Amino acid sequence: MKLKNFREIKEGAVLEAGTSIENKTGGWKTFRPEVDFKKCIHCMRCVIYCPDSCIPVKDKKRLGTNLNYCKGCAICEEECPIKCIKMVRK
Ligand code: SF4
Ligand code: SF4
Repeated sequence: MKLKNFREIKEGAVLEAGTSIENKTGGWKTFRPEVDFKKCIHCMRCVIYCPDSCIPVKDKKRLGTNLNYCKGCAICEEECPIKCIKMVRK
């Protein structure tokens, strides 16, 4: 089968710019991160690496994950240096 170039592909879904607050992407996930706050050292690695910026911070401490936007990618689990994040089935 010959692949189409981008000019031959019909328009499909259209995402409007500047709608990231309205698009609650959290519905996509199968797994969600669970943090053991007894072990967390608040190093902020998960906050920096989260591609959805859905880990809020207050007073230099990470808070719980905003599940409205967390897509369950598990990057935070991978990057946590002390492995206190576990992905669990939603
Ligand atoms: S990466 Fe791990 S230790 Fe660091 S703030 Fe996130 S959960 Fe806490
Ligand atoms: S699973 Fe992915 S999207 Fe969710 S908090 Fe972790 S890094 Fe962010």
